[in-house]
Amino acid sequence: MGEITLENLLAKICEYNLGSLDVVKKAYHYAETLHAGQFRQSGEPYIIHPLNVAYILADLHADMDTICAGLLHDTIEDTGITKEDIAHEFNPTVANLVDGVTKLANMNFSSKEAQSLANTRKIITGITEDVRIIIIKLADRLHNMRTLQYKSSFKQKENSLETMEIFAPLAYYIGAYRIKSELEDLAFQYLKPDLYRKIDDQKSKIEMDYTPTLKEIKERIKTFLSYESIASDIKIRTKNIYGIYKILNQGHRMSDIHDLFALKIMIDKLEDCYRALGLVHQLYHPVNEMFKDYICNPKTNMYQSLHTTVFAPHDRLVQVQIRTFDMDKIASFGLTAYWDSKPDCARDIMQQELKEKYQFYNSLIEMNAMFGNNQEFVSQVKRELFSEAVYVYTTKGDMIELPKGSTPIDFAYRIHTDVGNTMTAAFVNDELVPINYVLQNRDRVRIVTDVLSFGPRSEWLEYAKTSSARRRIREFSRKKLGEE
Ligand code: MN
Repeated sequence: MGEITLENLLAKICEYNLGSLDVVKKAYHYAETLHAGQFRQSGEPYIIHPLNVAYILADLHADMDTICAGLLHDTIEDTGITKEDIAHEFNPTVANLVDGVTKLANMNFSSKEAQSLANTRKIITGITEDVRIIIIKLADRLHNMRTLQYKSSFKQKENSLETMEIFAPLAYYIGAYRIKSELEDLAFQYLKPDLYRKIDDQKSKIEMDYTPTLKEIKERIKTFLSYESIASDIKIRTKNIYGIYKILNQGHRMSDIHDLFALKIMIDKLEDCYRALGLVHQLYHPVNEMFKDYICNPKTNMYQSLHTTVFAPHDRLVQVQIRTFDMDKIASFGLTAYWDSKPDCARDIMQQELKEKYQFYNSLIEMNAMFGNNQEFVSQVKRELFSEAVYVYTTKGDMIELPKGSTPIDFAYRIHTDVGNTMTAAFVNDELVPINYVLQNRDRVRIVTDVLSFGPRSEWLEYAKTSSARRRIREFSRKKLGEE
């Protein structure tokens, strides 16, 4: 996409919103006037940036308050107007959103580092107030990353690192896969340019090689689905460069990555997903141990799909993903999909869903309450939430997400404080394990409790990885001391 203009933005909004565009025009001219005389490093007038941010948001079918906030997002920080000015000129919601993405003023801090930590915390915890703050911030970061070539190489590396550490994980947690993938690849391109190019080249070569096979399977499945009167749309999806890098980094070869390219089958009705699965398995033999039902067991960011890997022609393995169109929207856009599916109450649904279904949200709230110090808070979030996670099952089949390195102690306290406090033993996949056993993906964990147990032992503090488990262990011993 070349230069984006106000007309482009208005046209984009018209695709999904038939209301008056006057407020958008007003926000644009308001921001343009305030930013007059300011320029980006590229030499363009500054307004180009907020305009692009608003366009990214309109592409997600954002509501009007969010679009206006996107246009105004740098005005408090860069032009000296206040939150009250925006509330007066627009409305309190827009003012609150803009304020949420505004950096804290540097005069309140002793050092640049202290300021940056406080800002990171402000961004992350903004989600508890209004998830749209994070979404605007992600759109802001996405445009800045897309135009990073104009910055110094020091800034390029610094911003890319921050994108990898903070923004890509945030996008992942709210399920916004498209944004997450693009952010990761942009950041990776600046952090490891040689590797990026190398993987990109190799991927293109394999892609050329694979495409005829993929097209052949696609056509065949499509034909058979239509015999069964199952309406479908089939697309080829490819893994992003950074996703490939992560797998190569675990010691695998590119040719071993079975989901480098996948066929994505989208279907109207849920029950037809399983019919389609049966049909795919009749046409191509499945690799038994590579089947996953994320429809009945959604990922912790609410991703839903059936994944199966089949023996395809020409000695190839191909992954087939089957899901409904609605699930596909969530798969690409996460929480932001509600702007499209429930435009009248999207904001409330987003906030509600976060609270009830997204596990990271409650961990975040807890850490925010636990750590007064910004440095401790930020490093704990990075270590516990934004580092790679491990996914295990309860005996009921619910999926629990924990930081890598977690033990049955963390699991028990995640289920309930009482479960942790009365735990006497842990079984993983029906075998008794030591209490400091490190949980692995797909472990099925059963905790044995006894109300007469002595409670957590002091060495559990060393074995527990999560701050919430450690806090509860300490609380228990403090209470016990109090009683004695
Ligand atoms: Mn900005």
